Amino acid sequence: MTTPARSRIGDAHRLVVKIGSALLVDEDGAIRHRWLAGLAQDFAALRARGSEVMIVSSGAIAVGRRQLNLQRGPRNRALRLEESQAAAATGQIRLAHAWQNALGKHDLAVAQILLTLDDTENRRRYLNARSTLATLLKLGVVPVINENDTIATDEIRFGDNDRLAARVAQMTSADACIILSDVDGLYSADPATSDDAEHLAEITAITPRIEAMAGAPRSADGSGGMVTKLEAARIAIEAGCHLIIADGRTGNPLKALEAGARCTTFLPVATPRTARKLWIAGSLNPTGEIVVDAGAIAALQEGRSLLPAGIVSVCGDFQRGDLVLVRATDGTAIGRGLSAYSAADAALICGHKSRDIESLLGYRGREEMIHRDDLVLR
Ligand code: GLU
Repeated sequence: MTTPARSRIGDAHRLVVKIGSALLVDEDGAIRHRWLAGLAQDFAALRARGSEVMIVSSGAIAVGRRQLNLQRGPRNRALRLEESQAAAATGQIRLAHAWQNALGKHDLAVAQILLTLDDTENRRRYLNARSTLATLLKLGVVPVINENDTIATDEIRFGDNDRLAARVAQMTSADACIILSDVDGLYSADPATSDDAEHLAEITAITPRIEAMAGAPRSADGSGGMVTKLEAARIAIEAGCHLIIADGRTGNPLKALEAGARCTTFLPVATPRTARKLWIAGSLNPTGEIVVDAGAIAALQEGRSLLPAGIVSVCGDFQRGDLVLVRATDGTAIGRGLSAYSAADAALICGHKSRDIESLLGYRGREEMIHRDDLVLR
């Protein structure tokens, strides 16, 4: 028996709602104020019931490119990095004002938070962002969050707000993360091209079959698509948070969802991980890779730590404490964790018994390459 999305939203104490560019901004780069007013009503209704809400709003680049007259040439041509950064800088002010006006009509105070990937990957900054969000929520303020596109370069950016929203949900222990999009969920095939595409209402596990159903991004301004929504779902559900993909194109999208509008709900895993493991699992930017043998994989699957003896090779330039990917020799991702050794030291001890570490490195480090408390399997 499936629980309808309406009770999930109704019962949620803490919610993250992600709004895609294609909803908030029209084809000409103008903010859809009327639609925004409807959504603001929905937020006010949730706040009146005592729910805490956070908004992850896209649209800065889409709004800014119009202001900067970067629409010329083939419609919606891809912007160069520096152009998108300039567009984001211009558009974000307007976006924040639009939210302030729309929510201010309901006496809701807003706070702007701009995050970079580093703010969620670096543990200290992650904890800092988390405590700021917690304080704002306690004060009854609605955080309006976006990626800090102006300073994020290609290598160090989320690039999509789906995963950013899931990271925020995880960071704040939200009960639900709602992704408002221009589709009402996940289909077994692309409904635009396939007649027998079936809608999936509830997903209990992100299996390879589900992954195969996610196609390429479709809308022009948004950079998400179903692939990043699935990645977002993985981050959220492992944090004990429902993730809902719903169609935001109607007038009062959250009200519609509560009234039973069609959507896809990803159910959280039964036993959420510890906060530390969640942060490891949700990290997006490993600094290196450790390739391990079959014996090590078997040991990891029994819940044991990764020892140097099971390591076949090491690549990347990581330091002690950095996050690394663990792979099998055929390239399959096994998990990720915090390395107890730098890449240089790991290369020296790989394949060796732990008792030889001291003579190989000249100091006595940890027995494990990745301790099981610092390791998350896929
Ligand atoms: N941060 C981008 C913006 O505000 C949107 C990213 C996305 O499309 O998800 O324009």
